[in-house]
Amino acid sequence: MNQNNLTNRRIVLASRPAGAPVPDNFRLETTDLPEPGDRQVLLRTVYLSLDPYMRGRMSDAESYSAPVELDAVMGGGTVSRVVTSRHPDYRPGDWVLNYGGWQDYAVADGKDITKLRDDALAHPSWALGILGMPGFTAYMGLMDIGQPKAGETLVVAAASGAVGSVVGQVAKLQGCRTVGVAGGKDKCRYAVETLGFDVCIDRRAPDFAEQLAQACPDGIDIYFENVGGAVFDAVIPLLNTSARIPLCGLIANYNLQDLPDGKDRLPLLQSLLLRKRIRMQGYIISLDYAHRFDEFVQAMGPWVKAGKVQMREDIVDGLEQAPQAFIGLLEGKNFGKLVIRVGNDTL
Ligand code: NDP
Repeated sequence: MNQNNLTNRRIVLASRPAGAPVPDNFRLETTDLPEPGDRQVLLRTVYLSLDPYMRGRMSDAESYSAPVELDAVMGGGTVSRVVTSRHPDYRPGDWVLNYGGWQDYAVADGKDITKLRDDALAHPSWALGILGMPGFTAYMGLMDIGQPKAGETLVVAAASGAVGSVVGQVAKLQGCRTVGVAGGKDKCRYAVETLGFDVCIDRRAPDFAEQLAQACPDGIDIYFENVGGAVFDAVIPLLNTSARIPLCGLIANYNLQDLPDGKDRLPLLQSLLLRKRIRMQGYIISLDYAHRFDEFVQAMGPWVKAGKVQMREDIVDGLEQAPQAFIGLLEGKNFGKLVIRVGNDTL
């Protein structure tokens, strides 16, 4: 491939959002192609993963991870191809998983990247989804914290999305009754007909809480927390004694600037956790479980191969579409794992 005259398009954080992100928080720039140094590779992004955690990185509030600096490239997991290599372990054309961010090209050290295995090449983007971070998040949170047992009832929201879809399917494989929550009829139909949820309830239905109670006649043993907000409010009265709550994400809160209006429900929640001996545990997949990735691959690989677990992808073409697609993710506009196709898969 001829690199002469090539430039790099990249999307940087132009300003920090107040509430929901808007297009002006991002800026598309064109720069020179970065040069790989000794033991480095130049990578061309093929797929960029867009994930809810990126909203946290846009803010400079205290968090488990440093924010993206103003005018710096938005970070993000990528599946890329090696363009030029000054590293002995990589050759032009190799497919790798890296953290290249919202840009066409990135330079990486050998230690920042992982070569995709040959059997991953049929679906390289799955390394960002079902066989990558979201699938891993679903598997560990459910199995390690949720501890599912046959006959128990599990509830998960964002049920057609990257994490929720895997939670539901894996819980079903453990013999649970699975109740999904999703935004809209199409997502609910997909969750039941394709993903095998026993029931799925539209979170936007005016009688959502009543429908959820009807769908859980024996209460809730595992509530896999993906969203918080109104879904959690409806879950609280249904929790059984010894219920487990893997606290994975709170997307309903990510754009909040203040605590929501209404009564303080903390005393009620604390009393419930105490009386019913409920275990609620937060986790950050990259910090708490990185050492167990192989365990996940050993379980998930065969399930995916056998068609027992699947993840719908919502692939959007063009790096320039990333800001709008990301804004939509926080509003539930994605339908499945959101991935930007940044470039061709051929070199
Ligand atoms: P999804 O693919 O599920 O996309 C996000 C979905 O969230 C939307 O499609 C929408 O689904 C739902 N949503 C958006 N806004 C709201 C709202 N106000 N109330 C309720 N639901 C809403 O994303 P992921 O699967 O990647 O992430 C799911 C959760 O897991 C997020 O909270 C994320 O932060 C968390 N996470 C945590 C990790 C960890 O290490 N702890 C790692 C990875 C993800 P719908 O329209 O169906 O309601």
